[in-house]
Amino acid sequence: PEHVLVVGAGLAGLRTAEQLRAAGHQGRISLVGAETHAPYDRPPLSKQVLTGDWEPAKTVLRDLDALDELGVRVHLGTAAVALRHGERGSIELELSDGSSLHGDAVVVATGVTARRLPGQPDSAHVLRTLDDSLALREVLGAVSSLLVVGGGFIGAEVASAAVGRGIAVTVLEAASVPAERALGPVLGALAARLMTEAGVDLRTGTSLTGFVDGGVVLADGTELTADAVLVGVGSAPQVAWLPATGPDGHALDLANGVPCGPTGRVHGLPGVWAVGDVAAWDGRRTEHWTSAGDQAAAVAHDILGVDPPPATVPYFWSDQFGLKIQLVGHPDGADEVLPLLGAGLDGGPVRGTVAGYLAGDRLVAVAGFGAARHLARYRALVADGADRRAALDLAAAQ
Ligand code: FAD
Repeated sequence: PEHVLVVGAGLAGLRTAEQLRAAGHQGRISLVGAETHAPYDRPPLSKQVLTGDWEPAKTVLRDLDALDELGVRVHLGTAAVALRHGERGSIELELSDGSSLHGDAVVVATGVTARRLPGQPDSAHVLRTLDDSLALREVLGAVSSLLVVGGGFIGAEVASAAVGRGIAVTVLEAASVPAERALGPVLGALAARLMTEAGVDLRTGTSLTGFVDGGVVLADGTELTADAVLVGVGSAPQVAWLPATGPDGHALDLANGVPCGPTGRVHGLPGVWAVGDVAAWDGRRTEHWTSAGDQAAAVAHDILGVDPPPATVPYFWSDQFGLKIQLVGHPDGADEVLPLLGAGLDGGPVRGTVAGYLAGDRLVAVAGFGAARHLARYRALVADGADRRAALDLAAAQ
């Protein structure tokens, strides 16, 4: 292609542009971003930025000069509002400032927004962008109590930063343990222990019926209030700007992100790829930092018609309450948790616990709590589709 249009100037969009150049693309690259900031990194937004350890500038991934050097034309503060297929493979992007860009390949890298609950007031914080993080940081400097709705990774990391600042934190979680969707019930229970041992008032199995001034109402009628409220209840893919039908008239199902094949080609939209949090590769969205980079490499190679690097095992981490939780692989299909290292699953210290997820006899994922030194070794086992015995043998040797 002569001109590649990358929509979304976050991690996945930036990495796509970098990978296109690294793989030898000589044509034009345009990067369109709705935010006014140069591409920045999100993991620190709920960690180092909130704790005050990092200045916001440290989150910048590549500044405008460096993008210019890479030969990337950047349009910041401008959203794509429509995509149209034209004659002879040309694709038009309509931008929010009324202008248009024309290219012959488009990469959708628009990420997600923080999901909001019905009736959620503007005074309740969410955390997705740098601006969200800076607003929350200021609030954490001024309050003595915080109510966190949602015990997923974002909620837990904010709770951790707040506890570290001496704030009284209550976390409301609808499921029976925090991070249940990512970790499952057994290891989610370890995440619960981390929270409660740090002094968080964790209330699981709570269902919320609405908001009051400075707080929420639970299903049993209880009102809970705090000096500040943060809602972390998942994400919604940013797809409203994409067409409802492809050029052949087929309807696109964008309900759970942009449906793609194994190299990011969007089903039903020729010449269009999708990467990062917005993209559902083979039916699954993987909202992980490393996946954005891995997918960007695959997409860049596919656009240029060269073989992509081999697929990698998904990897996710979260820093909370003084340790790192890590997960390699996809635990969703697992039917058994296999203790490997540490005593956390027997009620001992959470730190140093490593456990495998088995689907039948096959190791499909491994999670570690404060066990980074050990976890890397299990990655190769998960990649190879090793069995229970191989996992136990490795644990015995550690
Ligand atoms: P984004 O980074 O969201 O970038 C998408 C960009 O597209 C945004 O800037 C958006 O404004 C822009 N955009 C949207 N619509 C349009 C449009 N129509 N036109 C133009 N631009 C548009 N992952 C981990 O593995 N470990 C962690 O510890 C971790 N911590 C996290 C902490 C926080 C607070 C958050 C929010 C995420 C965290 N993640 C973590 C997830 C990780 O940051 C994401 O997987 C990664 O940012 C995905 O990159 P992306 O480019 O797909 O999306």
